[in-house]
Amino acid sequence: MKAVRYHGPGQPFRLEEVDRREPEAGEVLVRVAASGVCHTELHFKSGLLNLGVAPVTMGHEVVGRIEAVGEGVSLDRVDERVIIYYYLGCLECAYCRVGDEHLCPNLRAEYGFISDGGYAEYITVPARNAVPLPAMVPDVEAAPIGCGVTTAVHAATLAEPKVGEWVVVYGVGGVGFGLVQLARATGVRTIAVGRSAAKLDKALELGAEIAVNASEEAAAERIRGITGGAGADVVYECVGTEESMKEASAALGRRGRLVFVGYSPDSFTVHPIQLVVFEQKVIGSVGATLNDLYEAVDLVERGVVRTIIDRTLPLEQFQSGLNALERGELVGRAVLAPGR
Ligand SMILES: [Zn+2]
Ligand SMILES: [Zn+2]
Repeated sequence: MKAVRYHGPGQPFRLEEVDRREPEAGEVLVRVAASGVCHTELHFKSGLLNLGVAPVTMGHEVVGRIEAVGEGVSLDRVDERVIIYYYLGCLECAYCRVGDEHLCPNLRAEYGFISDGGYAEYITVPARNAVPLPAMVPDVEAAPIGCGVTTAVHAATLAEPKVGEWVVVYGVGGVGFGLVQLARATGVRTIAVGRSAAKLDKALELGAEIAVNASEEAAAERIRGITGGAGADVVYECVGTEESMKEASAALGRRGRLVFVGYSPDSFTVHPIQLVVFEQKVIGSVGATLNDLYEAVDLVERGVVRTIIDRTLPLEQFQSGLNALERGELVGRAVLAPGR
């Protein structure tokens, strides 16, 4: 089958012919219908994220149809439409035992990271990692649920914004659009910050109350103004550059929670006196739990959150999707559709 593979930091991804892995006991073989292009792939390519495993097939926002099952998996699951949960923890450690599989120190697999992912015609995963997808959510629209929406759900779980609080979504990409919609649905007041008028317009359409264009005005100052000087209760940092981190932390109010979702090569600097006197929290949020994925699928099925697709590309055109993402051109996701 065809697969797009990572060969180590700084090296280009390559479209290759590889062997398909047949399902072993407890596994399912999924024919991939749609695979979202995430910023993480750019971090792999640049070398910023280096997990030391290569070659490996990229892609962790994966939707498809079960084509075959391994021993012990019900044949009823053949033909089922599924979305992949990309972590496979040891299922025994203290983190796995409470469902925090994304924090497992002994991951058995992480599809699209250290294990072969969905930039391919097929993916093979344990049956429990193939989560049923409702018929009303089409393949391409479903793909970004796998990381974009789940990451938003997880970050919101950690930040715990309360009704009436001011939340800033700094960065309006795949995760940012999810966060804006979750905020709207939970009665939170939302300010979207970005540098692209098109993406900010989309954020407003999805329920952000105010959009701030960081290329035209000082974001923190504007957020202070909007919140009557108090600052934001929650800032989701989905960008992670020196400039965005500075503005995000300057925009944070008393008992504010700064939640890091995105990152870049830049480091975060803040004087502790700010955290001390305002009792602020700095939180990191990575990936999601299996339960977050079930939650995310439910949110999309109920229409609470919708995914935004910029374009659909055949697998062979993965590079044009990555380039567009890198240039900041995409409003929403680029989704690869193998077999199209
Ligand atoms: Zn991702
Ligand atoms: Zn574990």
